[in-house]
Amino acid sequence: MSDLVRLEGVEVRYGNSLALAATELDFAEGSFTSLLGPTGCGKSTLLNTIAGFVTPSSGRVLMDGVPVTGPGPDRGVVFQHYALLPWFTARGNVEFALKRFGLSRAERRARALESLAGVGLADAAGKYPAQLSGGMRQRVALARALAAEPRILLMDEPFGALDAITRVRMQRLLTELWQRTRTTVVFVTHDVDEALALSQRVIVMAADPGSVIADHEVTDDPAASGLHSRIVTQLGTD
Ligand code: ADP
Ligand code: MG
Repeated sequence: MSDLVRLEGVEVRYGNSLALAATELDFAEGSFTSLLGPTGCGKSTLLNTIAGFVTPSSGRVLMDGVPVTGPGPDRGVVFQHYALLPWFTARGNVEFALKRFGLSRAERRARALESLAGVGLADAAGKYPAQLSGGMRQRVALARALAAEPRILLMDEPFGALDAITRVRMQRLLTELWQRTRTTVVFVTHDVDEALALSQRVIVMAADPGSVIADHEVTDDPAASGLHSRIVTQLGTD
């Protein structure tokens, strides 16, 4: 598999404070990687740098060899808080996100409905965010990100606000979607079990300054292989 995204010496400062120390990373096309670490270790900073929301103070991010200079439709983003527009229906939210692609109204509608069906929301397309549960809202956010057919899906603790049962359902859905589409995914979490359940690769980060401290390929049975406990040890007492 070739690398879709490459970070070359990416360092991020907010004012005088170093949020992410110089980082070298590659993300292979079609891979599913989790960024795991305690609050403040720079997970969101790293993700937002790939998304183009944050500009590195040194180094660069390459997407297919081309430097990232800002957000773009090749990178879909899903946050913990869904950021749906309350005055649009589920379908309207997805259609709205497709506006910049120069599709006709009919094409936007067809793509929105297809994408909502893909996350199991065919019957809820006409509902407003306030009429949807947290899990359903997060499905809309996922449908919205995927409708644009991004090369990479960047997810920042997307299931962090959901109850345990909904969270497991969403994890299953995400795994299914990834197996179907093989969209490259970078998934931020501070939950070891979630990282191991979803990913082929787990990158462990630590704070002060934010940095990568380990990079693991996920084994078939992380508990039996000792990977789970190795990661817990790397995370320290958090
Ligand atoms: P994580 O997502 O792992 O919790 P963040 O990337 O949000 O970590 O934050 C890394 C560090 O950078 C933290 O110390 C945080 O307080 C700081 N930070 C994050 N965003 C900003 C910002 N916009 N301005 C100043 N400091 C920030
Ligand atoms: Mg964060």
